[in-house]
Amino acid sequence: MTTTRGALAGPRVLLRKLREVMAEPIGAQERLDKIVKLIASNMVAEVCSIYVLRADNVLELFATEGLQASAVHRATLTVGRGLVGLIAEDARPLNLPDAQSHPAFAYLPETGEEIYHSFLGVPVLRAGRTLGVLVVQNRSYRTYAEEEIEALQTTAMVLAEMFASGEMEGLSIPGADLDLNRPVHLKGAAYVEGVALGHVLLHEPRVVVTQLIAEDVDTELKRLDVAMASLKLSVDDLLARGAEVGAGEHREILEAYKMFAEDRGWTRRLQEAIRNGLTAEAAVERVQNDTRAQMARQTDPFLRDRLHDFDDLANRLLRELMGRPHGPVAGDLPDDAVVIARNMGPADLLDYSRERLRGLVLEEPGPTSHVAIVARALGLPTAGQVEVASLAEAGDAIIVDGDTGEVHLRPPGDIETAYADKVRFHARRQEQYRLIRDEPAVTRDGVPFMLQINAGLLMDMPHVEQSGAAGVGLFRTELQFMVASRLPRQTEQEGFYEQVLAAADGKPVTFRSLDIGGDKVLPYFRQQREENPAMGWRAIRLGLDRPVLLRTQARALLKAAAGQELRLLFPMVTEVGEFVRAKAVVEREQKFLEGQGHTIAERVSLGAMVEVPSLLWQLDELLEAVDFASVGSNDLMQFMMASDRANTRIAGRFEALSPAFLRALRSVARAADAAGKPLTLCGEMAGRPLEAAALAAIGYRSLSMPSAAIGPVKSAIRSLELKPLAERLNAMIDEGAPGSEIRGELRAWADPRSVPV
Ligand code: PEP
Ligand code: MG
Repeated sequence: MTTTRGALAGPRVLLRKLREVMAEPIGAQERLDKIVKLIASNMVAEVCSIYVLRADNVLELFATEGLQASAVHRATLTVGRGLVGLIAEDARPLNLPDAQSHPAFAYLPETGEEIYHSFLGVPVLRAGRTLGVLVVQNRSYRTYAEEEIEALQTTAMVLAEMFASGEMEGLSIPGADLDLNRPVHLKGAAYVEGVALGHVLLHEPRVVVTQLIAEDVDTELKRLDVAMASLKLSVDDLLARGAEVGAGEHREILEAYKMFAEDRGWTRRLQEAIRNGLTAEAAVERVQNDTRAQMARQTDPFLRDRLHDFDDLANRLLRELMGRPHGPVAGDLPDDAVVIARNMGPADLLDYSRERLRGLVLEEPGPTSHVAIVARALGLPTAGQVEVASLAEAGDAIIVDGDTGEVHLRPPGDIETAYADKVRFHARRQEQYRLIRDEPAVTRDGVPFMLQINAGLLMDMPHVEQSGAAGVGLFRTELQFMVASRLPRQTEQEGFYEQVLAAADGKPVTFRSLDIGGDKVLPYFRQQREENPAMGWRAIRLGLDRPVLLRTQARALLKAAAGQELRLLFPMVTEVGEFVRAKAVVEREQKFLEGQGHTIAERVSLGAMVEVPSLLWQLDELLEAVDFASVGSNDLMQFMMASDRANTRIAGRFEALSPAFLRALRSVARAADAAGKPLTLCGEMAGRPLEAAALAAIGYRSLSMPSAAIGPVKSAIRSLELKPLAERLNAMIDEGAPGSEIRGELRAWADPRSVPV
């Protein structure tokens, strides 16, 4: 085996010549033909071929020097088949002295390649995505040197730009489309309901490197040095600031950043790429391509995260080099923007103008993340946990189905039509709801209902009026804490609650005391890692152990509600004693404030959430102690069924309409009736028309739900003949009919009445 140092005749020379060919005013095929000739002669290879990935997952030979010319646009390989298919699949170079002895070798007779033994192929990558494969071959049995692999990869980068420019469209055999235009259908998690059709806007988009080929190597090396130094400084600075606020998790990420920033292997690879003729920014992208391809292969979530961090760092370095600021680029916002973000804070989302936003796709943030909460408050159809950013180009057509979590990128015509129909249907429905907005929520047989919304941010408040709700049945106060960067002071809390009450314009608002802990973490509030956070130190447990938090909040609420009724609900009560202690805290604050001469709430009503199953066996004592109660069906369901509400794998596994759950809910309604205490149900099920009808049947008269559900639920209530349905359902519950049958019975009621399900 020999290695040919001759190939080092210079990647730089090759790049310079390539640049000339790229600039020539010739057709795409002619350009490709020239390119393969150029590469072959520069690398002293007898063969150089370019394969392009098509939308049907087939690699088509687009140009060759050395193989049969008649094979161009005829020879094809499916991804995963043959050496070329393997490179495309793994997104990794393949360097073989004897290609034909490789188990994956597939013989393509039309190419006449049997006489060539050594083989070097590299993927043509763009943003970690494979667009094609570039191959050189020689007759002799030789192993290509590291430098040659590097040179070929560098060349492939230049090719990637040509692929992405769209110039090659139409070259393929008739009917075939290039992979770049391939429709992509992905399924993630449903975060915010609704459907959005629009065009992609990448949040913090990849920096597009346009200047690939260096004029002068030394200048580029210096530019890299300067950018590296300033990157290190900015990471150190972030670390120092992180230490001030004691941000635990962020600190770990920053430490990892620092480690990468000082990684000498990384710096060496960057310098190497520059010496091969790339500009500093193209060198970053070149190395980033490898990281991204690695990322796509990596299945270990921890290592994937680290690679993501590395990728972030490379982006920062690119921005340093190109003099771009960090942070969101609002840029040219299309009129129908669907923002795709790998990660995003709530403030970033609010920076985009709402009028132009149609939808949102979040790769990393979970369903309870701050940005997801804000998206919900904005009513922005959102899908989450779906990796689409690396597949999308700005301006691509996209559909986000927030009901199912599906994302269609570059959708085919029939999908687009189907979704456009769905949107129109949805709009018609909204119009119908608007028409009944000021009508009462009363069943056909005259039973009145109180329908309220769940809220948590100021921007939720206009929905009370817009939806025609009777008030806010659940105000999740923790949301203000979650979107803040530090613990809100008492005066800030007070001001916030005042604004909420003013926005409610006299309609009742039921505030819930802080439900933090569990998955609702405050970045500035140090908490120990817990094995089972949902069952951990959260909500009222934390409030009783850290009474300052509860006291401060009670004080702010009592003052904000001056001259009105303050309705306050405690979450996660497990024993009646906890409610009694929390009540004592509020009463002490009341006395204290009155003693100080403050005007405070005229009347205070305190309630408990029924969301921990233990309360089902303390209902009489509980209902005696409270002024009102509210069932948190989300948590009650998760604890009764031992089924994590945030785990998409089991969400939806158990039926809320099962006799077990309905019996539990019914026992609460009956006990509240007997005790003469007002009862509401404020979990998500209250917002689903069939479930709402079932709740009506088992005795609930007050429901609190996401604001978008008020219309559908009111229309269901208004078409309900309650008495006969209640008789049938209660009989089924008593008999222990399966949940599916109970649902079937409700559907049989709903379908002929066009009740939305
Ligand atoms: C519930 O648990 O049903 C509830 C309404 O509270 P949250 O969803 O905020 O836990
Ligand atoms: Mg809850």
